[in-house]
Amino acid sequence: MVLSIADTVASLSGVGEKRAEALNDLGIVTISDLLTYYPFRFEDLTVKSIEEIEDNDKVVLTGTAISEGTVSYFGRKRNRLSFRMNCEHVIVPVTFFNQPYLKKQIDAGKEIKVFGKWDATRKSLNGIKILSTELTNQQEAIYHSSKKIRQSTILKLIKQAWKQYNEVIPEDLPERLRREYNLLTFKEMIHLMHFPTDDLDLEKARHSVIFREFFIYQLKMIWLKRQLKQTQSGQMIDYDVRQLITFFDSLPYELTSAQKRVVNEICKDLKTNGQMFRLLQGDVGSGKTVVAASAILAAKTAGKQAALMAPTEILASQHKQSLDEMFKNTDITIELLTGSTKKKERDNILEQLEVGKIDCVVGTHALIQEDVRFQTLALVITDEQHRFGVGQRKMLREKGLNPDVLFMTATPIPRTLSITTYGEMDVSIIDEMPSGRKPIKTFWIRPKHFERMTNFLKEELKKGNQVYVISPLIEESEMMDVENATTLFHMYQEILGEKAAVGLLHGKMVSAEKEAIMEEFQRNEIQVLVSTTVIEVGVNVPNATLMIIHDADRFGLAQLHQLRGRVGRGKQDSYCILIADPKGEKGAERMHIITETSDGFVLSQRDLEMRGSGDIFGKKQSGLPEFKVADIIEDFDVLEEAREAARQLIYSKEFYQDEDYAELRAQLGMTSENETILD
Ligand code: ADP
Ligand code: MG
Repeated sequence: MVLSIADTVASLSGVGEKRAEALNDLGIVTISDLLTYYPFRFEDLTVKSIEEIEDNDKVVLTGTAISEGTVSYFGRKRNRLSFRMNCEHVIVPVTFFNQPYLKKQIDAGKEIKVFGKWDATRKSLNGIKILSTELTNQQEAIYHSSKKIRQSTILKLIKQAWKQYNEVIPEDLPERLRREYNLLTFKEMIHLMHFPTDDLDLEKARHSVIFREFFIYQLKMIWLKRQLKQTQSGQMIDYDVRQLITFFDSLPYELTSAQKRVVNEICKDLKTNGQMFRLLQGDVGSGKTVVAASAILAAKTAGKQAALMAPTEILASQHKQSLDEMFKNTDITIELLTGSTKKKERDNILEQLEVGKIDCVVGTHALIQEDVRFQTLALVITDEQHRFGVGQRKMLREKGLNPDVLFMTATPIPRTLSITTYGEMDVSIIDEMPSGRKPIKTFWIRPKHFERMTNFLKEELKKGNQVYVISPLIEESEMMDVENATTLFHMYQEILGEKAAVGLLHGKMVSAEKEAIMEEFQRNEIQVLVSTTVIEVGVNVPNATLMIIHDADRFGLAQLHQLRGRVGRGKQDSYCILIADPKGEKGAERMHIITETSDGFVLSQRDLEMRGSGDIFGKKQSGLPEFKVADIIEDFDVLEEAREAARQLIYSKEFYQDEDYAELRAQLGMTSENETILD
């Protein structure tokens, strides 16, 4: 039988059904999976001298046993094996728990090598295992294990797999590429990842793994993007530039140069046949709505329809209002379609959409239900795209004939992440705020100073300003979220008495209730709005100048930044007060960072560094690729190098022709058919 690393682990001797299952649970199905199941650390098995070790260090000591081992039992199953050993003329008592069978390896006068944990007070060793005295300096790989399979078993199986299969490990990268980027062969790399002789070996091996991980990922992304670009099946939106100029002239302000730049980028995409696939990033308040509006208007002037999707009804209706205001001098027809649109009205809207009498529909997920049909949907814009599932976006896209797609996000995704996550998208960034914006003064207080803070709150209210209060985020339970908000609501009512009307907004309210409360806040009939994070994005109440966030340490920095972006929309000074009692230095540092930084991009970069990429949006939503070894932040330099290498390769002829690259092409899932799309 021909061996292949694609064989399942069951082909190893000693791997039966149970073990195979335990391995599968760890994501190991094939020999290849096993060989690339890398250790997360190494145990240093170099012999140590007693002088250099500290309490609780795990060390290897060698010496001569000066007594036999004696086993004493306590309880039915528990026992202790003890003996003494002479290490460099120091007598060290050694104890093994529940390993009575080691007794036969211990004899007075015999040389012995023990791996164990040092107890500095007793000057004794708590033995873990006895090592062969023939082994000299070495490192032992430690793997993530599970209840069903032990770390030592994994190591044993990897050794076995290496022995049986090392001859048939194929090479994945052509030599010229390995030479150019200083990479080990796939086989050398695997060997050194598990069995390095020193740190230098390990460093080289890790570099090769990290490069490969990034390189393959980027290759896929860039290839996908190039394919999208070359597919001529998108829609051409041949807009009327004069009408756009008239629109811009009608606005009460001039676009910032960043807005102008992204409008140009988007318009250029609209005019081409290809399908636009673009991410519009801009901090809260940077003015994304008017950019979206110009794309919607562009579509209309070309006789095509657009759809704008928002994650919540509140946001959808706010977008509708903003668009109505901006478009008041145009003849564009815009309708709102959400879950709470009345049946009769909904039917009416659906009918008009289908015959093309409505130019743009704004809504929530209600927009993607099956009965919604368009006449000529050519542009889809989603706001805060990371809240929509991939499936939902796909469905909406399918309603048009490959409509152009614009994703808007206020989450300032650091560049490091956007090139990996959105490698297949073009990115437009509004990196400039409209002039005249004042920074939001941010303070952090401990809960014990809450009383004092309420004086400040009363002062703001006296000036006629409005206030948001955000209740702590309880991710585990929406019910607790609501309870918390309700408690805070009563507390603020009590504190303020007749001084202000306090309102409550939370996720369990039906949307009509939410709308009503929002409207009251907008009309200043409510002065203090206590809310869960349902108002996280978008709402615009320029008279609100104070944002109070309870248990602020429960939020990510990027999220806190978005929340505080709700204030500072008018001409007055605005404040954000963070109430938090973070444990530990890191928590305090995060609070300091947010009080000192007003740039959302800088913040999310810091957030990422401190919390890891998964935490920015929450693991499930992030859509970030998972790498086995590589880390987007720590290995950023390799990421850039690998990206450049991937880009050069994708745009070279060899890649599509040379036999050398067959393995890589296969990894991208290229068939000979789609290879020919490329010139
Ligand atoms: P966001 O990017 O958070 O969606 P908006 O589009 O809601 O920001 O814009 C925030 C506010 O800034 C709105 O009141 C809008 O009218 C205003 N605005 C947008 N662009 C400009 C500009 N170039 N100059 C002045 N104000 C602007
Ligand atoms: Mg917005």
